[in-house]
Amino acid sequence: MFETLQDRLSGIFETLTKRGALSESDVNAAMREVRRALIEADVALEVVRSFIDKVRERAVGKEVIRSVTPGQMVIKIVHDTLVETLGAEPEPVDLQAVPPVAIMMVGLQGSGKTTTTAKLALRFTQEDKKKVLMASLDTRRPAAQEQLKILGEQAGVDTLPIVPGEDPVRITRRALDAARLGGYDVVMLDTAGRLHVDEELMRESVEVRDIAKPHETLLVADALTGQDAVNVARSFDERVGVSGIVLTRVDGDGRGGAALSMRAVTGKPIKLLGTGEKLDGLEIFHPDRVANRILGKGDVVSLVEKAAATIDAEKAQAIAERMKKGSFDLEDLAEQLKQMERIGGMSGVLGMLPGIGKMKKQIDAANMDNSVMTRQLAIINSMTRKERRQPKVLNASRKKRIAAGSGTEVQDVNKLLKMHRQMADMMKKLGKNKGMLGGLFGGG
Ligand code: GDP
Repeated sequence: MFETLQDRLSGIFETLTKRGALSESDVNAAMREVRRALIEADVALEVVRSFIDKVRERAVGKEVIRSVTPGQMVIKIVHDTLVETLGAEPEPVDLQAVPPVAIMMVGLQGSGKTTTTAKLALRFTQEDKKKVLMASLDTRRPAAQEQLKILGEQAGVDTLPIVPGEDPVRITRRALDAARLGGYDVVMLDTAGRLHVDEELMRESVEVRDIAKPHETLLVADALTGQDAVNVARSFDERVGVSGIVLTRVDGDGRGGAALSMRAVTGKPIKLLGTGEKLDGLEIFHPDRVANRILGKGDVVSLVEKAAATIDAEKAQAIAERMKKGSFDLEDLAEQLKQMERIGGMSGVLGMLPGIGKMKKQIDAANMDNSVMTRQLAIINSMTRKERRQPKVLNASRKKRIAAGSGTEVQDVNKLLKMHRQMADMMKKLGKNKGMLGGLFGGG
């Protein structure tokens, strides 16, 4: 989901975070790249423009948190602006009304309307414990009503019995009556679509709306159609009025243009995402999580916040300096282990950093979870100061003693030493080009 955009943005941000200090022109250059990436992702121009303006305004001249590179601050600003563009807070489908609550589904043919109707009905049934009735008003597409019936059987949700020859208005009336008489909490109306927005479709939708007086009118739009999806939403909203949007096929959407433009252009919230053909392929739309996905490493945001709150800037600075010189000893490692423990463990930290996947795999391979970390600290604590400074002096008998002293095995001691050597090597390299770790731990 949103992989293409993610790749582009992560490339841009990687360049940014590699720099120590950022000038206004660095930020501007990066924003030009972000702008291009957004346009290529098929985000509406007006949205791109206001997005870039906002980020630029916030990024330039912004005070930078100590021990964190300004590049990461820019990422945080981009993230926050993304969340804002996407709508800030999740807006779930509202069922708070006198039952039967009518939900009208509108959209073009092929957008995933019928599938989404069933997905949503299943969710209401299972999660909200509602009694749901679905009715297909699609008398135009052959077998559309049968399709909903079959989906209803799969989902275990009732569908209005099909009466051949009825028009949408009559089906609507019958559905409302059946819902009332049958004690249903929710009645879902799956309206007919067309290949394009046309007058007849709008008139029919308005007619159904006036009879059903839906509590929610959800527009279903195909994310893969990018800005077209946004235009369709706007047309429907102008003519029929919609209360929210379901964006389907985001599972195949690498670009994310529709998701990013929808709220800003239509003023309507995306409420749900369709993420697959199966009936469980439906997610509540969380602007912050989607922003994280788009950034591919949104956890950098929490990391920056955590790091700013917990890392001892002076110590970190000293370690970063030593790292760059390549004199990263076991005392430094111990200090880092302690700091990392405070912000969620080694693996967690590395998982939050961009462009460090390979290193994370190596660390994971070394089985570096938090309990391992605690043991490693114990091993280092069992060494003499000289040994911590110069691990090379450790011989077999000392390793045995250290293992005994720390309640571990010699092989754990060896693993730690090996890991330290690898880390020292990697950090030396990263430190040289002012990489993420240098930045995170006060270098840069
Ligand atoms: P309608 O004409 O708008 O009612 O569209 P349908 O519900 O019949 O869906 C058209 C096709 O899109 C079907 O093959 C669905 O399985 C597929 N589809 C619907 N939603 C999604 C989705 O979120 N992801 C994917 N990958 N396919 C979907």
